[in-house]
Amino acid sequence: MRAYFTTIWESVSTLITGMAITWRHMVNIRKGSVTLQYPEERWPRPERDIGFDQGEYNVIRSRLHVDMDDCIGCLKCERVCPVDCIKIETHRVDKGEDIPDVGHTGITSNGTKKALLVTRFDIDMTECCYCNLCTYPCPEECIYMTGGPNSEKHQIDYEFSQYDRNDMVYRFAKETSEEQVAIATGENGEKK
Ligand code: SF4
Ligand code: SF4
Repeated sequence: MRAYFTTIWESVSTLITGMAITWRHMVNIRKGSVTLQYPEERWPRPERDIGFDQGEYNVIRSRLHVDMDDCIGCLKCERVCPVDCIKIETHRVDKGEDIPDVGHTGITSNGTKKALLVTRFDIDMTECCYCNLCTYPCPEECIYMTGGPNSEKHQIDYEFSQYDRNDMVYRFAKETSEEQVAIATGENGEKK
C-alpha cells in the first residue's frame, strides 16, 4: 500500500515540477530565453575571422552582384550556369555608341566597346546553387560574389532573406521602355 501511494506522489510531483518549468519559460519568453525573433530582431554581426586572409581567398560564396555598366551582354555567364537561373536579353546597337537614358554606356572599365544593350539581366537566387561558375568566364569581371577579394567593389551582405520569393529574383538591368529600345537600336528610324 505504501509503495502504491509513493508512486502516485512521485508522478504528481514530477508533473508539477515539469509544469513549473514550462510556466517559467512562458513568463520569460520575451526576456532573451528563446531564439531571437528573426528577421524582426537580429544579432549584431560578429567580427569576421575565418582563419585566413579573405583578400587572398577568391571564392567567397555570399551573393552575386553584376556591375551593369561593365556588362557587354556576351551571355557567357548565362551559358555556363548549370541550373539556368541567369536570364539575359540584349539588343544590338552601334558599337561603342553612348546612348543617354537607356542604361547603356559605350565603354567598359576595361576599355571594351559595348555593342549590345542589356535590357534584362535577372538572376533567380532561389535556384542558384552558389557554384560560382558564372564568375569565371566573364571577360569584364563584372559578375562576382560580394565580399572577400571583391569587398572594394561590393561589401558582403549580412544576409538576404525575403518575405516574398519573387524578391529573390535580382534584376540588375536598368529599366528600359520599348520606346527607348527602339531609339537605341534605330528601329524607329531616329537613332541617337
Ligand atoms: S553561382 Fe552557379 S548556379 Fe548561381 S548563377 Fe552562378 S553559375 Fe548559376
Ligand atoms: S559574362 Fe560578364 S559581360 Fe558577359 S553577360 Fe555575363 S556579366 Fe555580362
